Formats: sequence, structure tokens, C-alpha cells
Amino acid sequence: MNKRFIFIYMDHGATTPLREEVLETMLPYLKENFGNPSSVYSIAREARKAVEDAREKVAKAIGADPQEIIFTSGGTEADNMAIRGIATAKGKGHIITSSIEHHAVLDTCHALEKEGFAVTYLEVDKYGMVHPEVVEKAITDDTILISIMAANNEVGTIQPLKEIGRLAAEKGITFHTDAVQAIGNMPLDVNELNIDLLSLSGHKFYGPKGIGVLYIRRGTKIRPFFFGGGQEKKMRPGTENVAGIVGLGRAIELAIEEMPEKIRRLQALRDKLIEGILKLDDVRLNGHPTQRLPGNVNVSFQYIEGESLLLSLDLKGIAASSGSACTSGSLDPSHVLMAMGLDHQTAHGSLRLTLGRDNTEEDVEYFLKVIPEVVERLRKMSSIKKANS
Ligand code: PLP
Repeated sequence: MNKRFIFIYMDHGATTPLREEVLETMLPYLKENFGNPSSVYSIAREARKAVEDAREKVAKAIGADPQEIIFTSGGTEADNMAIRGIATAKGKGHIITSSIEHHAVLDTCHALEKEGFAVTYLEVDKYGMVHPEVVEKAITDDTILISIMAANNEVGTIQPLKEIGRLAAEKGITFHTDAVQAIGNMPLDVNELNIDLLSLSGHKFYGPKGIGVLYIRRGTKIRPFFFGGGQEKKMRPGTENVAGIVGLGRAIELAIEEMPEKIRRLQALRDKLIEGILKLDDVRLNGHPTQRLPGNVNVSFQYIEGESLLLSLDLKGIAASSGSACTSGSLDPSHVLMAMGLDHQTAHGSLRLTLGRDNTEEDVEYFLKVIPEVVERLRKMSSIKKANS
């Protein structure tokens, strides 16, 4: 094989490619059916119908009612809208979240703290798991919201949503979950799990970027933070991103249809990767050994910087990511790995591989063929040496 032509994408946690079938359903709404869904003539009515069809598909995917689905610009907006929306509707109170949430949740909570809300950032165990007993202990008479993600974006750990949801329902506390990474990778039913608010993002399940969903259980007291034309039940006014909504609807329909087979296939590839990588010296698995997303592998290599590992893998045609990825110019190690108790060096040497529907056995074999030589070369060059070497 000529390595110049190898491109193996193992970063589906960052984003996924738009599916051809999804693009096909979107195109008419960028071309001939370009009407504004709020207008009265036929191309506008077509657009309105397409938006409402997509809403039904999303509702069906999570066991909700279409009236409880609000389209947003993505996962970040849905998380902000959920948490700030509940907080401002209540005016004051206490919020419980975990220390391993996505920054869309954490930074919203930090901002609300500055505005006078109390926030508890729960500790997780060494696998990145939030224990329901820990949630229960943190609840006070002032608790207005519990926000715990369904599955972690870095280490893939799946949280005990059912237990946390039951707890929240018993105490009458609103329960939000960021299900951006979970949808299509595990069953999610808002009624079974007692979820009041749930965030989704189209580009994580082969839909378009810039479109997301916030599920809001009927009767939940929530305030919008945008004001305007009244679209999306006044929760998210502004002319709808019709093509994006249509694409998201088709993508979620396909994701749910194909989920059982996808889980089975990706789990097998994931486990083969983990088994192969753990044969190398001085490497550890991050995240839960079994309660993890089907396509997620997160490992730490001692004596290596994650960034140099990514560049070396890129030269071999493999796209992956690292917990030490320097978002916003900072080289801070991943807050998720640190919260799980890893030291700086181990957190910096992390590698995340997130598999998707196009990955094959051959991709896994190729990765396992190249990783030993890449690791050996980087360790030889590394300034982080074994203490006794
Ligand atoms: N929440 C989680 C768990 C994510 O992984 C992401 C994206 O990486 C987001 C929220 C943000 O979603 P978006 O990119 O649609 O704003």
C-alpha cells in the first residue's frame, strides 16, 4: 500500500462526515424549496412540513413528543440554553454538575456562579464515572438542576443516567443531560431515564454542522435567552436552518435504525484496538473498561507527548486526537483526565481514537502495525525519560 494515499479517520468524537443520504435530503431545501417556513406560499409550506417531519423523527429517536423538540445551532447552544434557561427561570439556587462535563456545560456553570448561583462540580471515580450516591449527597433544599452528561466525549465513560434520573425525579429536581456523544451509540428514552432536558448535535451522527436539538419536557419552567420572531415556541427565535434541520432529522433516523449493528461492530473493533495497544509497554487505558462508548479508545503512553503522537500518526495517514489538545492556545492537560486522578505527564501522553461507521478491521490492523514503531521512535527522542533510565 502506498502510504501517501492512506487516510484513516479515527476522530468521530470530534465530528463525523456528512452522509450522502443526508446531503441528498438537504439539497432541495438549499435549492428549489428555499422558502421561509413562516411564509404562506407552497415552497414555504414545503419547508415548514420538512421542519415538522424532522422534529417528529428527533422526537421518535428519544421517546419524546414533537412539541418538546427545539432546534438550536448545535450542542453548545443547547447546553447553554438548558442550564441558563433553568437558572434564570428560577432566579436563584444550586446546580449540580460533574467535573468532567464538556466546556459548554462547565463554562455556563462558571458564568452562573459569577451571577450568584451556587454550583457543585461532582468528583468522578478513576474510570470517569459519576456515582448516584455522590449526586444524592450533593442535593440540598436549594438544588434546582442536575446536569450530568450521558457519555463522556474524551474517555467514553457512560454514566448511570437511570439512577441519577430517578433520584432527580424523586426530589423534584430538573435533570439535564448532554447526550451529544451518546445518541446513536446507546439507547436513550427520556421517559425511561426521567430526563427533562437533553442536548444533541447534528455533526456527531453524520448530520450537518451548526444544527442541534434541545429536548424540553412539557411543563418545564425555562426562560429563553434569544428574543425575536417567535420561532421554535419562542425558545429559539430566528428563521429556521431548514436544510440543517432536515439533514439532522434524516441523520438521527438512520443513526437509530442502524444502532444495534453499529454498536456490535464498533465494540469489536474497539476491543481489538485496546487489546493490541495494551500489549505495548508503559501504556494504560483511560475510562471505564466496559461502560464505555462502542467506538471510544483512550489510552496514555508514558514518556510521550500526545501532540507529537498526533503529528506522527498524521504522517502515517491516521487522524486522531489527544486529551492534551491545546484548545484556545493553552497546553493544559485534559480536565477530564485530571479529574480522574491522572498525573500531568500521563494526561499529556493521552491519545483518543473514536471509531465510526467507515472504519474497518484493516484500519485497526494498520493502526496496530504502525503504533509500536511510532511510540518507540518518540520515546527515543523524548525529553521525558524514565526516572531510572
Ligand atoms: N457536548 C459534548 C459532550 C461534545 O462532545 C460537544 C462537541 O464536541 C459539544 C457538547 C458541543 O457541540 P457543538 O460542536 O455542536 O457545539
